[in-house]
Parts: sequence; C-alpha cells; structure tokens
Amino acid sequence: MRIVRYQQDGEAPKFGWLLDEKVGEIQGDLFGQYRRRDAKTPLADLKLVAPSTPTKIVCVGRNYVEHAKELGNEVPKVPLIFLKPPSSIIANGETILLPPQSAQVEHEAELVVVIGKRGRNIKPEDTKGYILGYTIGNDVTARDLQKTDGQWTRAKGFDTFCSFGPWIDTDFDPADAVVTCRVNGQMRQMASTRDMVFNVSVLVAYISSVMTLEPGDLIFTGTPAGVGELNDGDEVVVEIEGLGALKNPVKAEGK
Ligand code: ZN
Repeated sequence: MRIVRYQQDGEAPKFGWLLDEKVGEIQGDLFGQYRRRDAKTPLADLKLVAPSTPTKIVCVGRNYVEHAKELGNEVPKVPLIFLKPPSSIIANGETILLPPQSAQVEHEAELVVVIGKRGRNIKPEDTKGYILGYTIGNDVTARDLQKTDGQWTRAKGFDTFCSFGPWIDTDFDPADAVVTCRVNGQMRQMASTRDMVFNVSVLVAYISSVMTLEPGDLIFTGTPAGVGELNDGDEVVVEIEGLGALKNPVKAEGK
C-alpha cells in the first residue's frame, strides 16, 4: 500500500491511500485501527503534504563506504547518528531555500524508514514489526558549516533541509534498490542500498537502544557517494527504484 497525506479545500491534512493515481481516505488511526475508503479522488485534485509528522528525524552519517571516502572520513565502527528538527521538513515539490549563512549547500539522496510502532531496545530480528514502510529523502546539508561547527545541528537543521515523500510504501523491500540523485537532469549520485555499511534492521535496533522510537518517526539511512552543490534555480530529483521520485526546486533565501 502507498500512504499519502493530503489537503483538500483548506481542511486539516488527512492520511489516504493511493491506487492507480486515485486517493481514498484512511479513517481512524493509521498506526492502529483504521478503515480505507474507496480510492476515488484523482491525485491531481489534491495537495500532497509530507507523508508523516515525526517526533524526531534520526539520520545516519557515513553509511556508504564510497561516501565516507569522498569526504576524507573512515567508516564508523558503530552507526554514527544525528538529528534533524521537524521544523526542517518540506514536501515533494516545495522549495529548498539556500540560507545566507552558507556558501555550500549540498544534496544527500537517502532511503528513509518510517516507524510504525513505539519501540525501545528492538532486536534486529524483530525490527520488521516496528516499520510502517519506506519513503524517499533528501538530507540537505550546509557542508561548509558542517566542517566549521563540528556539531552538525546548524548544518543539517535549517528550515527546508528535510525533504521526504511523496508517499510511504508499506511493501517496499530495502535490501537492494538503486538510489539516484539528479540535479537539472544530470546524474550526481547512484548506488544500491545493498552497499550500506549497516542495514535497516541493524540501524533500527541500534537507534532504539538509545531512544524510544515513536510511530511516524523517520530514519534517514545515509547517502551514497556523489554529494554536490545546490544552487539558486536548480531542480533536484531523488529517485529510488520501486519507490518513485522526490522533486524539489532550489532558491536562494530572500531572492
Ligand atoms: Zn545524510
């Protein structure tokens, strides 16, 4: 099933499910008991918003060997994790704003895990039961500030620096899918999720040994090699085989 969140006639966003470009409302609790209404409303008639409202966004650094190398880093012995604030979220189609504090904002194409059930100290073999599904993400990063600050909160935390969507796919298999990133049609990143240093089960188990994971929380699983600059007027597209495409225009803030 593909899950979307949408707005119609200025009402509060609702969850829905997608079938053949048509959307049906999900009534009840997406993470508990719910009922699916018939998918009748054309997707084109709705405004899709980001498909989850996480309490936190946990990200994994240096989870592909070639990406760790390109920035002159070693692959970590245990997953390297950091947080992005929910205020940085934007949806598919919304604009990534380049802040005046940075001269080097970069894209990071990533597979994103969406948590479906509250969990702490989840065992790797049990993680499947805690995952709602998967979506596509762009972990936008001010690379210059990441280097100068040491702590990554500012470099990763600007408004509009967390794009994900357009939907959550509950049947996606994360074992071996091609992740690509194109800027203005030009290929920048391409790798398979099979090249991750720590796979999804290991990541969910490891993060849940630190913090309670809540329904709707996101885990950005790291980016492959090929990260590069975003400039005013660009269009960045992250695609994951079997999941779809996430597209965002880029603008300099205040322009
Ligand atoms: Zn990242």
